[in-house]
Amino acid sequence: METVLSGMRPTGNLHLGNYFGAARSFVKMQDEYNCYFFIADWHSLTTHPKPEDIQKSARTILAEYLACGIDPDKATIYIQSDVPETLELYLYLNMNCYLGELERVTTFKEKARKQPDNVNAGLLTYPTLMAADILQHRALKVPVGKDQEQNMEMARKCARRFNNIYGVDFFPEPQNFSLSATAVKVPGLDGTGKMGKSDGNCIYLYEEDKAITKKVMRAVTDEGPQSPNSEKPEVIQNLFTLMQIASTEDTYKYFDEKWNDCTLRYGDMKKQLAADICATIAPIRERIKEISSDTEKLDRIARLGAEKARESSLRTLQEVRRIIGFRTY
Ligand code: AMP
Repeated sequence: METVLSGMRPTGNLHLGNYFGAARSFVKMQDEYNCYFFIADWHSLTTHPKPEDIQKSARTILAEYLACGIDPDKATIYIQSDVPETLELYLYLNMNCYLGELERVTTFKEKARKQPDNVNAGLLTYPTLMAADILQHRALKVPVGKDQEQNMEMARKCARRFNNIYGVDFFPEPQNFSLSATAVKVPGLDGTGKMGKSDGNCIYLYEEDKAITKKVMRAVTDEGPQSPNSEKPEVIQNLFTLMQIASTEDTYKYFDEKWNDCTLRYGDMKKQLAADICATIAPIRERIKEISSDTEKLDRIARLGAEKARESSLRTLQEVRRIIGFRTY
């Protein structure tokens, strides 16, 4: 079974975009691959979060992904900082990465621009930590978005270089795993772009029906269809895309026909859309509540995940130490 690895950023809560764009695909993947899902709390240190927020945000994201259906019996779900072995590999990989190439990584340049007073070495070596995350499990596939492609290139370079330097064929080159077959881009409620935390245009998985309905009813619309079978402007297309994602095909067709014959009333469409989104989210929300309330169980799951991840990482590390010329543990 091929190994897949995916990192989750511990920032805030999951929204509908995260669910349809990532979590739902992870749930399918865990039946087909040997999956490692980890919460990237070390990566988050580049912005110096407060200690009290670190644990809280890791637990929140863990509970929410579990509520989406990630099953700790099928996949290994762990918190990055629970697996210290990663750091040893990170050190070895850093020895083979060069300042020039790390400085050329677009995500580094962007971050350096955003936080000019805090261009720390961790920011610079973010790609080697990511490479260590991946290579420690000798993962073959990594689901990543466009913004991570350059980091993936670095991970492949790290694997190749290690193999070349030591004349071995040890690390496989991890490939980008396109989620496009199963994932969808979820638009926001403000009529532009995609649903995202920073845009205040999203519906969170923890939200109650009333709050969700209020948000959907407020979604941006226009003056309505002006001529039969006209093209939908972006704000309206977004509502239809949301309907395509959350409602049944018949419901979508019903409102699409109403658009085409100019009898569509946005109020009716939004009411239906809100009800369908609520129906999608309600069971997840209830599971989030249940899982979050049992912190002991959550800790048990995190510990179990860490044990499995450490075992896998240590297996790799023993070989790496032997190859480099160090004593094995
Ligand atoms: P983020 O919340 O930005 O850390 O994203 C976590 C994961 O959710 C990534 O794999 C994204 O590709 C996915 N994601 C975030 N927002 C959306 C969206 N609006 N539509 C589809 N996927 C999304």
